Amino acid sequence: MFHEDVKLRGLLITNVHTVDGKKGDLGLRDLLLTDGIIAQIAPAGKLALHVTSTKTSYPQEQVSDSHENLLVIDGTGLTAFPGLIDPHVHFRDPGQAEKEDITTGARAAARGGFTSVIMMGNTVPRIDTPDIIRDVINRGKNTGINVYTCANVTKGMEGKELVDMDACIEAGAVLFTDDGLPVRDEAVMRLACEEAAKRGKAISLHEEDSAFVTEAGINAGAIAKEMGLTGASREAEIRMVERDIKIAEETGCAITVQHISAAESVELIRQAVQKAEAAGTKRLIHAEATPHHFSLTEDAVRIHGTCAKMNPPLREERDRLAIIEGLRDNTIDMIATDHAPHTPEEKAREFTKAPSGITGLETSLAYAVKELVQPHILTLPALACKMSYNAALLYGLDAGTIEVGAPADVTLFDMNGTWTFDETVSKSSNTPFLHETLPAPVRYTICGGRVVYRDT
Ligand SMILES: [Zn+2]
Repeated sequence: MFHEDVKLRGLLITNVHTVDGKKGDLGLRDLLLTDGIIAQIAPAGKLALHVTSTKTSYPQEQVSDSHENLLVIDGTGLTAFPGLIDPHVHFRDPGQAEKEDITTGARAAARGGFTSVIMMGNTVPRIDTPDIIRDVINRGKNTGINVYTCANVTKGMEGKELVDMDACIEAGAVLFTDDGLPVRDEAVMRLACEEAAKRGKAISLHEEDSAFVTEAGINAGAIAKEMGLTGASREAEIRMVERDIKIAEETGCAITVQHISAAESVELIRQAVQKAEAAGTKRLIHAEATPHHFSLTEDAVRIHGTCAKMNPPLREERDRLAIIEGLRDNTIDMIATDHAPHTPEEKAREFTKAPSGITGLETSLAYAVKELVQPHILTLPALACKMSYNAALLYGLDAGTIEVGAPADVTLFDMNGTWTFDETVSKSSNTPFLHETLPAPVRYTICGGRVVYRDT
């Protein structure tokens, strides 16, 4: 991973269109990042006035003479977001380094503009003990970005016995999830919610009841039928979402419905959110949408085969539109990639034998801009909330805003630029988005005041 010379005292980004989720569109600003924090935010030109040097180290960068060892990035034409946060990534570490590891996963994240990620725990072994949590957090510290981890809800993700929640939180877990699997047993789910609520932690849920899944990764619909399959029914998701909203409300536990896929689930969450709003109580029910679920339908399986196979599956156009509407009216409050690397050999198997999941960190921002911002569904501040601030708030991460004193995590991208996704820096390339020409190229990813990615 690329790191700036550590001797640099700081970074000055000049004349950049600055967008914060919390404070909204700040207009053109100069941002001074020193000692790992955002030290100053000023109207464009105010801080730049003090820079006189023309010593060029990169076409858009200068090293200032008047500010000793200050790297200056000309932000003209660029948009600054708070460093993006992905609350749902699979880095396959420990145990499946042939697919991805923490270092390569973080590299893909940085390229996509992400400065913070939360790893899921369906690894080998599972992330269900304080020792494993400490190990993955420690190794994440060498990547340049903030690598957070979940703890599983149940030991071994077996759905039976809860992990030691206190020990896992103490070790650094920021949320609980058995992602990859639902928590099927209702009594276990209820107990997990009671215990997580006591500790102020959220549970993130893969809502898919296997009783309604014949073959995973493909919608029970027209395309499955063509292929001679039955597929995964929307009922699998709807029923679990319905059950878990009820349990969350009864126990006061915050839950996130991960990678929402069905129009009916969006509506269930909408009603729950509206009910809480009407009662003036805290929002407990949260939801993530992935870029693939708001960009593609089951038709993508025809074109991309196993690179359009994921759990829950891509569904119909009406589902895609419902997810977009859910993002628009804030029923869905987070965008998450579910970055799920698999090897070419695994994805080359016949459809029903290949594993589910696609990568997504490098293309998430581009698809959000393409499908949500350009068609005027989300404003840029609303997108900054869904790709950064809301996850920071829910999971208690010190990130997600551009304000003085906040960590110097900033993503710079070009709203007028285009790029073609021809090469991935992930270990795996199982994505339907390869070779697409897309908007909003990330130009710089800055984490803790250091440049961890730049577009060269
Ligand atoms: Zn999942």
